[in-house]
Amino acid sequence: MPELPEVEIVARSVDRRVRGDRIVEAWFSSRPQTFKTPRSHQAKGLAGLTILAVHRAGKHIVFELGVDAGGVGAAPPQGETNANPATAPDAQWIVHLGMTGRLLVTTPDSPLAPHTHARLNLASGRELRFVDPRRFGRLEFRNLESRAAFVAPGAEPLSIAAREFAALFRARRMPIKAALLNQTLLAGVGNIYADESLFRAGIRPRRRTNRLTAAELERLRLALRRILRHAIRCGGSSVSDYVNADGERGFFQLEHCVYQRTGEPCRRCQTPIRRIELAGRGTHYCPKCQR
Ligand SMILES: [Zn+2]
Repeated sequence: MPELPEVEIVARSVDRRVRGDRIVEAWFSSRPQTFKTPRSHQAKGLAGLTILAVHRAGKHIVFELGVDAGGVGAAPPQGETNANPATAPDAQWIVHLGMTGRLLVTTPDSPLAPHTHARLNLASGRELRFVDPRRFGRLEFRNLESRAAFVAPGAEPLSIAAREFAALFRARRMPIKAALLNQTLLAGVGNIYADESLFRAGIRPRRRTNRLTAAELERLRLALRRILRHAIRCGGSSVSDYVNADGERGFFQLEHCVYQRTGEPCRRCQTPIRRIELAGRGTHYCPKCQR
């Protein structure tokens, strides 16, 4: 399942390719599970809109769309996704990749992958496709004239401030691992990054959030941010493959310290890594380095 870094990389990569392009026509498959907005409504809403920017919000990819039909062809490559396009958006297209969703930017004549659920014809002559074999992904169209802009649940782990982060956890009494996975607290932190950040912060996954010191919480915040940023940097190099090609190519592998290393020696102290079940998830930690 794509985690925050993967979603960020896909958003940046799609932004680079389609920013400034215009959606000529949109087609959706008749598999209803994929959609939040009825497909006819999405197709009608998207047609004719210009893609002002594409960015990540939590684990969602948000297309900011404008009625101004000025742009044809993608803008020059951007360094980073920018949530604030120059023009105020009139609508949004929100994509959640679910477990197996992929966005592909391709040419209309390239073979259609099985489980293609959406095809957006772009004025530049390319096509944006959404492919999702397991259909846990979600596509939503929002007209901002009648609805508020999309806000992802939970705080943003890459930019949350120290005080805000501490307040989020100290008000609760649950194992810190479970709190990290709770998407209404922090957006987009999955199992791998929760285990790895707790290792780097030296905190046992079962520790109660209200018992953590300010120093521990700050170590955790920094560890989490560092790991996520590192993963985004590493993944950046494999982006073109991810978006363009068959999509089967594996994503970069973060060198895990604890995740799925049960019984293997800790990279820091050689103690065997332990595995427990916590919040319904396999949880990995070093009994010596984490207190
Ligand atoms: Zn250790």
